[in-house]
Amino acid sequence: MFDAHAHLQDGRLAGREREIESLALACGLSGVCVCGTSPEDWSSVEAVPSRYSFPVLTAFGVHPWYADALPTGWEVVLKERLQHHPGAAVGEIGLDGIRATPPLERQFDVFERQLALAVELGRPVVLHGAKEWGLLFDRLTPYAGKLRGCLLHGFGASRELLRRFLDLGAYISFGGAVSETRCVRAREALRAVPSDRLLLETDAPDFFPDGGVPLAPGLDRINHPANLASVLRCAAGLRGVDAPTLEAQTEQNARACFGIGEPLSPVASRAK
Ligand SMILES: [Zn+2]
Repeated sequence: MFDAHAHLQDGRLAGREREIESLALACGLSGVCVCGTSPEDWSSVEAVPSRYSFPVLTAFGVHPWYADALPTGWEVVLKERLQHHPGAAVGEIGLDGIRATPPLERQFDVFERQLALAVELGRPVVLHGAKEWGLLFDRLTPYAGKLRGCLLHGFGASRELLRRFLDLGAYISFGGAVSETRCVRAREALRAVPSDRLLLETDAPDFFPDGGVPLAPGLDRINHPANLASVLRCAAGLRGVDAPTLEAQTEQNARACFGIGEPLSPVASRAK
């Protein structure tokens, strides 16, 4: 069970590594992609793999929310960071229409500079497109054929856009939103994605899913990777397949999307 998108560097999870690890061990988590959001958290992202026994794939990038407060030379720092971590992806990057700022023109600039860097370094990208999936498609298209891999996280666009993103070769990732009946587009898209392009995520510590397990008493809104189990159960139900089949398929897809060569062994069996 591979969590294709989370932020384990987030301060809300600080000091909770023991609980996160033991719940992950219990559910057989095989890996997590941990995404940065701005130059301020890249060092924290870098430190995450040493804290856990399950494999952590890191990603470094500037989330669209932080596109207008960047220090001079941020691209140089990002490139050096990526060169220092040859297995790292570029993410979380993209466009956002939920917040009024930064202005879209600024988001375009920061997004495309990072797409160009991903092409130059041959890295997969982890994309955020909330409420701007159409613009994301337009801006992504010129780069798509040159990218090493492409994941759309927290997908919630129309069936038509889904088809166009699939034609670009993208992998499509879904989180706890699919358990909510009001998230009609996400649920429809989840049913429509071909099985070899589907990924699952928690986006921890956000989006605590229905049926999730709290990290500790009282922490019932702080999400963590073991809750991928409830996303998996819900996704399997919506697609009409059994959970172990979907688990194996999405893990295989994660390896293909991120270019992970060796099979990911479940934490539980590695620990023996
Ligand atoms: Zn995220």
